[in-house]
Amino acid sequence: MASFKDLNLSKQLLNALTDIGFDTPTPIQEKALPIILSGKDAVGIAQTGTGKTFAYLLPIIRQLSYSEQRHPRVLIVVPTRELVMQVVEEIKKLTIYMSVRTIGIYGGGNINTQKQQVYDGVDILVATPGRVIDLTHSRTLQFKSIQRLVIDEVDEMLNLGFRAQLTQLLDLLPEKRQNLMFSATLNEDVEVMIEKHFKSPEYIELISRGTPLEKIIQQAYQVPNFYTKVNLLEYLLQTDNSLSKVLLFVKNKKIADEIFEELKAEFESVIGVIHSNKSQPQRFSAVKKFDEGEHRLLIATDIVARGLDLKDVTHVINFDMPAKESSTYIHRIGRTGRADKTGIAISFITKKDAPIQKEIETLMKKKIHLLDFPSEVEISENLTKDEKPVTRDKSLKKLPKIITPTGAFHEKKEKNKKVNLGGKRRQENKRRIAEKRNRIKSSGK
Ligand code: AMP
Repeated sequence: MASFKDLNLSKQLLNALTDIGFDTPTPIQEKALPIILSGKDAVGIAQTGTGKTFAYLLPIIRQLSYSEQRHPRVLIVVPTRELVMQVVEEIKKLTIYMSVRTIGIYGGGNINTQKQQVYDGVDILVATPGRVIDLTHSRTLQFKSIQRLVIDEVDEMLNLGFRAQLTQLLDLLPEKRQNLMFSATLNEDVEVMIEKHFKSPEYIELISRGTPLEKIIQQAYQVPNFYTKVNLLEYLLQTDNSLSKVLLFVKNKKIADEIFEELKAEFESVIGVIHSNKSQPQRFSAVKKFDEGEHRLLIATDIVARGLDLKDVTHVINFDMPAKESSTYIHRIGRTGRADKTGIAISFITKKDAPIQKEIETLMKKKIHLLDFPSEVEISENLTKDEKPVTRDKSLKKLPKIITPTGAFHEKKEKNKKVNLGGKRRQENKRRIAEKRNRIKSSGK
């Protein structure tokens, strides 16, 4: 097996890698290094978890000479602020024995502080697309010295609607530069962008498109509705201690908050939630607690979870299956089973999910293994507002709309009612589980 020592890296980088504790390059690193060092444009098809960040950072840092000029020479564009922070951290670790100025800029951070930092001089700029364009408007940031551009997680950036900003950015950069792009999947949108802006790129492809990592065990339960999903999740957390670092995906922030509300009586101290309505400090804190093992469960939407480097995730749970993109499923489950560890992905599948499940299975050329629904878990009859069938009573069609005043106090009362219902359910659920435990105990005697 190759070692980093065989890869034409500098002494400073090798020492930094030794400090970090990495001695063997991952396959994407081994493949990408010589190509990127050659100066060619390159497109890496690699999921998070493959070591793709170091795959582009190592050769870039290897060839970055010392300079006192103020304008950045490397621009790394990523979709989220979390990823900005993470990439900056990785660069700092790698350049500990070098004099490299690295700055991360992202929307939501103080723009004046960021301007000042850029003004003071920077070698590697890591940024989200919108904010970097804002900074160029003020002329504080100039791109005339950019030699290398990395667009990381480009598929996600396009999903998030950054296409216009990306195109604008690409047009602002000097003609003569090296373009590097990383994406978990290649789709038509990404290919159009490569065609337009890249010069005969080399493709660094590790796995065929959409193939999930082999070491992920994929399981599923058929679950009829939200409250049954909550019951099942609660049951799994109560009965299976191997669920020690669980990343739970939900379709939107409302559901994320509702699950937290449902589970907080028993699990508040071990659950974190991240979504776009959470403030940046809240998000960082939740990720940190999860990363450090204080929290056992992190509830997340796709947008904020993408790109986060969460180590040793034991389980990924799809509380909601992805609504449209089958590749999202691959992104999600790729968050567990990292490096040489195995991981488990559990999906809660409703009847409505049948088409996307089929699409995912076709994409993977593999079936998701269906597990028997645990008999101890209550199947709830309660339906959320979104789950209730829409009844159309024609006779009511023409009646004028009755507007009921809905003050904050009134809303709260309604909300409380719902939580109470959940409490009863929970108690019932607990009773069943306790009964089961007793049965097991007494049969063991
Ligand atoms: P990435 O795919 O860039 O998100 O990296 C996934 C994880 O693998 C991160 O936690 C990295 O720190 C880690 N990693 C990257 N390169 C190596 C390596 N050569 N050996 C072991 N772990 C690595």
